[in-house]
Order: sequence, then structure tokens, then C-alpha cells
Amino acid sequence: MKYDFLIVGAGLYGAVFARKALDRGKKVLVIDKRPHIAGNIYTEKDEGILVHRYGAHIFHTNNKTVWNYVNRFADFNRFTNSPVANCRGELYSLPFNMYTFNRMWGIVTPEEAAAKIAEQRKEITREPENLEEQAISLVGRDIYEKLIKGYTEKQWGRSCTELPPFIIRRLPVRFTYDNNYFNSLYQGIPVHGYTEMIARMLDGTEIRLNEDYLADRQVFNALADRVVYTGPLDAFFDHRLGLLQYRSVRFEDEHLKTGNYQGNAVVNYTDRDVPFTRIIEHKWFEFGKDEDGNDLPTTIISREYPAEWKPGDEPYYPINDKVNNDLADAYRKLAASEKGVIFGGRLGDYRYYDMDVVVEQALRRCSEVL
Ligand code: UDP
Repeated sequence: MKYDFLIVGAGLYGAVFARKALDRGKKVLVIDKRPHIAGNIYTEKDEGILVHRYGAHIFHTNNKTVWNYVNRFADFNRFTNSPVANCRGELYSLPFNMYTFNRMWGIVTPEEAAAKIAEQRKEITREPENLEEQAISLVGRDIYEKLIKGYTEKQWGRSCTELPPFIIRRLPVRFTYDNNYFNSLYQGIPVHGYTEMIARMLDGTEIRLNEDYLADRQVFNALADRVVYTGPLDAFFDHRLGLLQYRSVRFEDEHLKTGNYQGNAVVNYTDRDVPFTRIIEHKWFEFGKDEDGNDLPTTIISREYPAEWKPGDEPYYPINDKVNNDLADAYRKLAASEKGVIFGGRLGDYRYYDMDVVVEQALRRCSEVL
């Protein structure tokens, strides 16, 4: 065998694994079917603006080991995510915090906000069993109707009563005037983008792009002792137990001559009638400046349209409802008995991981198998 590891997918999981393996003296080949590295965290410069081609990625974590690890490969800026929600022209602060409650109900104190929510959550009388019940029980019906229901149903293409409660628990609810979207100790975006960070992780490995592992499995398997597979779990097994569902996203980019389109990196459109979920204005991830600290004169925005995944699309989100989770469990059993193959990452595990969890899992897996 020419290589110790064949790593399928040059995204975050694959890159962390490759780096560790290389540092332990292993021979590694990384392949990816796309023409670029970095998977869905791929960023590239366009008119001096760092564009997140596959959607906004803000690194955040409470795990100091993970934070120190990624900081070996990139300097991170001080970006703090504070999206704005636009519901029919009314603007609300996210995540759900005192600014949101003030705008929604005209109240001022945390006590008033808590009383309002306590009143509205009375309609939920059992442990929440779906996203709708969970949302109302966290923030009440008014916020659910204006800021959650429309957005969520667009994002997932499913009714909130059919979606699992954990999705909405990703968002903090705070009785303070603090609109940091994350509860993490560490947060930021690599100063030169994620692609450069991944390139530094992969430095010294052999990389082959435009290579489709599943289309040529025998040939690739013959190259290495072991395989690290980060593609879709069901595709690895030729969908033999059935198709897992994924949510995909389509971006419509626009280059504008104005210097400031929306005044924030992320604006969510929570109304069902607006066909996209959010508009990203990329320059604000870097405070509107170029690398020399000068104001950028133009801007690039991306409208994000969610869509059900179909063959040929990029899968972005696993759909962790009961049907899909049960099927994924069955595939995970097959995966566990697949000798010589390590499955990882959002698609390989079919789990809605944030980036820090991906890094954590890759590091853990490395310490087990290297
Ligand atoms: N969400 C919402 N309204 C918003 C933003 C988020 O209802 O304005 C819900 C929605 O169900 C979404 C979930 O919260 O899928 C998680 O949001 P997050 O921003 O974590 O999603 P991601 O950035 O991973 O797409």
C-alpha cells in the first residue's frame, strides 16, 4: 500500500485528521470531488471581500483545546455574530434577548419579559415533543409566530410540529441586553479565511481534487490501508437501506456598488412569504475593511434559499427527524462493522455538528486510531 490513510473529503474533519496523521509520520492522500479544498467552509476573495461561498461560518467554541488547535493554523478576528431578524419590515435583535422582548412587547425590565413569556408558555402543558412546542415554551407564542415559525418552515421545508425540539435550543434565550448569538467563550473568523486555514492544515499532504471516491472505489481503496470517509453516510452504502434526506441551500450572489447594503453581516427574513431565509453581507464579517484596514467601496450580498436536497446538489444539513434518525442509526450499524473505514464529519455521521464539534471529534478519533 502506498498510503496509510486515504482521506475522502478535504473539509474540516478530513483536514484535521490529515494533519494529525501526517504529524505522526503517516502517509496520507486527501481527495475531494470538488475542484477546491475546505468543503462547505470554503471562502474566497472576490473584489477584496472574503466571500463565504457555502454560507456564513462563524467559528465558536467553549473548548479551549479546540480553540488552541485551530489557532495554530489561523489568526482569528474578533467577529461576534449578532443577526437581525426582519419580519415584514420590523427589525428584531437575535438571539432572543431583552432588545427582542422590548421591541416585541414594549417592556423594559427582565421581570416584565419573564412574566410575559411565563403567561404565553402556559399553553404548553407537557415536555415539548416538537420544535413548535419547544419554541413556545422557551419564548412564547408571539415570538414563535413572528421570528421562528416562518423561518424554520422555510429552512427545513417541514412544519414546526414535525421537527425535533433540539434545533431551536441551538439559540440562546437571555434576559439581558446581550445580543451575542452564541454562548461560547471563544468566537471569530480566520483573518485570511477558512480556505487558507484548511490549506495550512493540509500542508505537506498529497491532495487530489476533482476525484469522486464513490465512482472509483476499488481503485482508491487499493491505494491505502485505511479510509477516512466524510461524505454522505447513505451514499457510502449505495443507499441500500433507503435514502437519507438532506437540506440543501442555494445562494444568489449580487455585487453592489454601494458601500453598505444592510449594515450587518446577517439579516434573517422570518416571514414565510419572503422566499429566502437570510441575506449575508460578507464584508461585515471583516468589519468592512480590506487587509490594509481601508474601507471597501463596494459590497457583495448572498440571498440564501433553502431547498430539499436532490442528486447533484450539495448536501448541507442532515434532517434529524425521527424517520431519518432511525435510518441513520441503521446505517451507523453498517458503518461500525465496516473494517478499515472511519466515518466522520457532518455528512459522515449524519449529525448537525457545528465546526468546533467536528474538530473535537476528529482530534478524538485520531487519538484512538493513530
Ligand atoms: N431560527 C429561527 N429564526 C431565526 C433564526 C433561527 O426560527 O431567525 C431557528 C431555525 O429553526 C433554525 C434554527 O433556529 O433552523 C437554528 O438556527 P441557526 O442559526 O443555529 O442555524 P444555521 O446557522 O446552522 O443554519
